[in-house]
Amino acid sequence: MSVALQNGLQQQFETIVKNRRFLHQHPELSFQEQNTSRFIAEQLKVYGLEVYENIGGYGVVAYIRALNPTKTICLRADFDALPIPDEKDVEYKSTVEGVSHACGHDGHTSALLGVAAVLQENKHLLSGDVKLLFQPAEEKPPGGAKAMVEAGVLDDVDYIFGAHLASDLALGKYASRVGATKGSVDAFTIKIFGKGGHGAQPHQTKDSIVIGAQLITQLQQIVSRRIDPIDPAVVTVGSFHSGNAFNVIADTAEIEGTVRTLSAKARAQVETEIRAILDGLKVSSHIDYELNYLNGYPVLINHEAETLVVKSIVEQSFGSDAYETAQQSLTAEDFAYYLEKKPGAYFYVGSHNDSEATKYPHHHPKFDFDERALLNIGDLFLKIVSHYVVEEK
Ligand code: MN
Repeated sequence: MSVALQNGLQQQFETIVKNRRFLHQHPELSFQEQNTSRFIAEQLKVYGLEVYENIGGYGVVAYIRALNPTKTICLRADFDALPIPDEKDVEYKSTVEGVSHACGHDGHTSALLGVAAVLQENKHLLSGDVKLLFQPAEEKPPGGAKAMVEAGVLDDVDYIFGAHLASDLALGKYASRVGATKGSVDAFTIKIFGKGGHGAQPHQTKDSIVIGAQLITQLQQIVSRRIDPIDPAVVTVGSFHSGNAFNVIADTAEIEGTVRTLSAKARAQVETEIRAILDGLKVSSHIDYELNYLNGYPVLINHEAETLVVKSIVEQSFGSDAYETAQQSLTAEDFAYYLEKKPGAYFYVGSHNDSEATKYPHHHPKFDFDERALLNIGDLFLKIVSHYVVEEK
């Protein structure tokens, strides 16, 4: 990578940290990130980028234009926070009660802002355009990525890359994986309409609690007995509400849950099986039911060629032990939508040092990271851009 880009990034470090801490103090929940979005757009305008606001919600899109563009490389950062209290004892602690950047999206955004400044300053080096996506609402399906894709943000893009901090990975390490890397996420709500009555006269009722309990037990058999055991899936029931007196048989029950898979096949099969179980209970227990099945993010599938580009850049630049093959996980990420449309890769950037403060898992009230990891995000982004659209001179 050119020395100008390398030096430029180093010079941005102070600003990156300042931006990160500002965002950290002013977190906004998914789909409510009006001020964050405005802050990002203002910064980008100061740097002189071509900026488009309110794309697919609070999304911000910006370009660094080459004089004679060949390709367009796209980089994405997410910027929403979580409904988690900030329990850290730091000067940049969240100022919003019960809301915090407990996943590190503040870091993703400030790192990409730093990259924006460096690239804009060095755009004479570019042989292709660089497009930046600042995306809202990653944490909450239907998410921000889907709306941005539907708004056409990928239409002029050749390759897309996204980074996520990883507190279980040491500072200086990077990880990614070819193929299915993160899970699909679906959510279901089931209402059982039985028939209430006296606790002593069950024969005159259709007991929604007994039927709901059967349903939950049968749902456990989807993964254990129906899905191919080498194709991972999870069906989790997270809530079951029914009844309110010891001697009254419950009229209705409401059950909520989530489905996670690593393949489109398993994903479709779980939904089919849930519907089949409900239809069976409808007949055998004489009930009606209502099923609300929400398809959230698809499986995140990294493209082979682009993931191998990331791997080889990391190994060549930082040493062969700096790259790890990421573990598959059934947690979800809406970067998956971009990868359904365009070739690219999603990778992790190690963010813990020796201190306990940087080792909490993501979404923990004390989650924090070594801010030098933001330089590592920026560094790899710039190296990826250089690989595709900077002529080495
Ligand atoms: Mn996240």
